[in-house]
Amino acid sequence: MLVVGGGPAGIAAAIAAARSGARTRLVERYGYLGGNLTAGLVGPCMTSFSLDGSEQLIRGVFDELVRRMAELGQARHPSEIPAGSAYSGFIEFGHDKVTPFEPEAVKLVAERMCQEAGVELLLHSFVADVCTEGGAVTGVVCASKSGLRLYPARVVVDCSADADVAVAAGAESVTGRESDGLTQPMTLFFRVRGVDDERVEEYVRGHPDDFRPFASIVAAATAEGRFPAPRRGVGMYKTLRRGVWRINTTRILGRDGTDVADLTAAELAGRDQVDRLVRFFRAELPGFAECELLDTAATIGVRETRRIVGEHVLSLADLQRGTHFDDVVALCGYPVDIHDPTGAGGGVDDSWGTANAYEIPYRSLVPVRIDQLLVAGRCLSATHEALAAIRVMPPAFATGEAAGTAAALAARLGVTPREVPVGELQRALLAGGVYLGRTTGPASSPQPAP
Ligand SMILES: Cc1cc2nc3c(=O)[nH]c(=O)nc-3n(C[C@H](O)[C@H](O)[C@H](O)COP(=O)(O)OP(=O)(O)OC[C@H]3O[C@@H](n4cnc5c(N)ncnc54)[C@H](O)[C@@H]3O)c2cc1C
Repeated sequence: MLVVGGGPAGIAAAIAAARSGARTRLVERYGYLGGNLTAGLVGPCMTSFSLDGSEQLIRGVFDELVRRMAELGQARHPSEIPAGSAYSGFIEFGHDKVTPFEPEAVKLVAERMCQEAGVELLLHSFVADVCTEGGAVTGVVCASKSGLRLYPARVVVDCSADADVAVAAGAESVTGRESDGLTQPMTLFFRVRGVDDERVEEYVRGHPDDFRPFASIVAAATAEGRFPAPRRGVGMYKTLRRGVWRINTTRILGRDGTDVADLTAAELAGRDQVDRLVRFFRAELPGFAECELLDTAATIGVRETRRIVGEHVLSLADLQRGTHFDDVVALCGYPVDIHDPTGAGGGVDDSWGTANAYEIPYRSLVPVRIDQLLVAGRCLSATHEALAAIRVMPPAFATGEAAGTAAALAARLGVTPREVPVGELQRALLAGGVYLGRTTGPASSPQPAP
């Protein structure tokens, strides 16, 4: 089988498939794994716990990767990170038990885990087209320095985040808000070094009325037309390195992450905002006077593009009710997090009323009509609002692990992914250390926190 995209979903899909005994190839366009974990400089990983922080819901490959990075001193286990901490961007709601990590460690540890599982890695390869036969995907075409090559596969798992394979295969997809098709804005992440960590903490804790860190300073500068990005505060996350912070504050509105001209324009606009933000930080933010740019992400961060139409479209109501699905394959507690597609507002807020823990069904990974294809990560089947909750990295790992396990099972049983017996799939997931709630299977009792 073949996994397209080596981000959180693809890493987990490939490892799970290979561990399940399938000959597995993982195709990634960059020279390293990680997707937004590495190329996007995105972090920390948002919560893998229930909304109240009491129970770890996302375990399996995600937890293994985190623990191995922690052993190298390159990550902290989420159980150690409380809401409102500097690692959580000083945000309380929805930001309990996040995972700070170093991007370089993801590259190394994910590669090792893939190799140990027997995954065949194919880096520097962009999937440009697919082959289909009678409504089923039979392989992908990669463009690389070696030219155009066809890679046949019995089952393909699309973890491209943009549903590249599914759309090329003719699968039904939708984009953005149901009302007008607009998507969440893009952000070019960057890191600064030379920050006075203690001074920042002292200032932010001393201004509890600020909606987000430095919100009143940003508001005043915005009113005078001096703040370089449409934002209401500074999205900033302390890292494991002294004086180094990740900055999630640029904002590029109205661009399409599947249009190369828009992606180009967004990169240029993002870099310009970074330059102006760093100058602003040095001049006006307490604790940032000596800071300098460490790096910008290798790619603009795209929050939302296409998502497939699957056998089940996960909805906001499912997240609010905590709907129990017989084919549950992942649990999640992260709330709805919509950055305003048209302005400065948005982000996590508690008005959506999502459940403390909610479920993702297998059917949301199965596209209607097209066979021999599964989809995981940011492009699975969900509404705009539901996707805004499950788009973060731990759920992407979880759905990837489910898809990879299912693909291997389909290949072994000689059935299509649509026909995979869900009981058998759930047993395989539980055996791999996945948590499916207290009611699904005997092996699903909660693990003690480390
Ligand atoms: C600005 C921004 C801020 C965010 N903040 C956070 C945060 O703080 N914490 C959090 O947990 N989540 C955050 N997220 C969400 C999260 O990063 C993504 O939704 C998540 O990474 C999705 O995982 P994925 O595996 O589906 O996709 P990705 O991480 O995008 O990985 C997709 C992979 O597929 C590869 N690929 C794509 N197309 C092809 C192709 N055709 N051929 C070959 N390879 C291909 C890409 O190179 C990439 O490696 C943020 C996202 C953005 C954009």
